[in-house]
Amino acid sequence: MHKFFSNAIVVGGGPCGSFTALNLAKLGFDVNVFEEHAEIGVPSHCAGHLSVKGLKSLGLYPLPSEIVENTFYGAVFHSPKGKRFYVRFCSPVTCAVNRVLFDKYIAEMTEKIGAHYFLNSTVKSLIVENGFVKGIIARRGKAEERFSAKVVVDAEGISSRLLRQAGLSVFNRHMLVKAVQAEVENVQDLETDIVEVFLGRDYALGFYAWLMPKRNGKAKVGLAAKIGNPRELLQRLMLKHPTASKKLRRAKILQISFHSIPLGGPIPKTFSNGFLTVGDAASQVKPTTGGGVIFGMTCAKIAAEVAYEALRKNDFSSDFLSIYQKRCNKKLGSDIKFMLRIRRMLDALPDEKLDDAINFCTKIGLDKALQSFDDIDFQGRSLLRTLWNPRMSVILFYFLLSYLFANH
Ligand SMILES: Cc1cc2nc3c(=O)[nH]c(=O)nc-3n(C[C@H](O)[C@H](O)[C@H](O)COP(=O)(O)OP(=O)(O)OC[C@H]3O[C@@H](n4cnc5c(N)ncnc54)[C@H](O)[C@@H]3O)c2cc1C
Repeated sequence: MHKFFSNAIVVGGGPCGSFTALNLAKLGFDVNVFEEHAEIGVPSHCAGHLSVKGLKSLGLYPLPSEIVENTFYGAVFHSPKGKRFYVRFCSPVTCAVNRVLFDKYIAEMTEKIGAHYFLNSTVKSLIVENGFVKGIIARRGKAEERFSAKVVVDAEGISSRLLRQAGLSVFNRHMLVKAVQAEVENVQDLETDIVEVFLGRDYALGFYAWLMPKRNGKAKVGLAAKIGNPRELLQRLMLKHPTASKKLRRAKILQISFHSIPLGGPIPKTFSNGFLTVGDAASQVKPTTGGGVIFGMTCAKIAAEVAYEALRKNDFSSDFLSIYQKRCNKKLGSDIKFMLRIRRMLDALPDEKLDDAINFCTKIGLDKALQSFDDIDFQGRSLLRTLWNPRMSVILFYFLLSYLFANH
């Protein structure tokens, strides 16, 4: 018999929802998690490319081996005209996880320590009394049921229905890219320990395309773009891109999915009375790469800690819960600002400049310098550390001067 009252309700059984529930349950909360689908992790739409350092910081590394599809030592960037720029490290920096198994793994841990999952249960609306969120109304089968809680955490992903009802605004629609992700076989010349990134406005305007090998000879290929039909763009990439097509022309698509990625940085307000939001619903996603799992789960942990403090003080007011956003900003704010600048810069670069930029990066030995780029999640901090080395400063200064003289 389930309980209609709990200390906390989490809406959405994705990685950010389950990780919030896991941390809440660890802190002694009784938690009800609602997931609209019949199975956790299904359907999956994500490439599952995660940093080893990020997973370690969340206490999730090493993962059980069956979840990890491959590990990577770096990446190769292909310019629109087929120039290449390699960044390779001496040990694996990222891994590809099977997102269905990853989501199930977090949910199973959460259930084991006492949280209750309601599957096939769509949260239709919030219960709001005297300006405070007091619970949710869920459709389960044909019935609608009311569940109360002291705090509701919205982890619905990008399609959040609850934010507006809680008085919060949704993500910046101008910074949304539409993505496609496919599993393929029969790829030629697959580099097995590196992720390939393909740039070019004709294929992925406002983002990029990726190719990620799996250990079983198959691969994940995908892209995201501001405009265009993702399915057609993927076809174009596989058949026409100067380098991608050589590898993918004969590949067979085994599975394909479509979803969107918010690149505009977190929504302006992530809390209200009795309510917090985490993950894609809060647009806690890296504006450069679209990666949302590590950032979202980092914020999920903060949300659980803040909810715990609120429970001890018996204060779930928006005034108190505002520390959630302050702590998330402290942790991610400067990196997100930095990444937003890079995203805008990349969006403004025409393809010819991208070719020049890739040439330039190789010329100044940025590939070598980036080997000390030790954090692909917190990119702002890491890049500063990387560039804070005398050799790089001299090279960049030299380039800056020659660039200025060449352009005037
Ligand atoms: C093509 C593609 C590739 C990507 N690749 C990467 C990558 O390589 N690395 C990375 O870090 N990120 C990647 N991302 C982003 C990543 O998928 C998201 O950031 C991440 O899934 C966010 O997790 P979440 O828990 O916030 O939301 P989701 O994973 O979207 O989970 C939300 C859950 O809530 C449920 N739900 C929604 N509404 C309700 C409701 N009203 N009631 C009940 N349940 C509800 C949904 O069914 C879903 O299970 C990619 C995204 C796309 C589209």
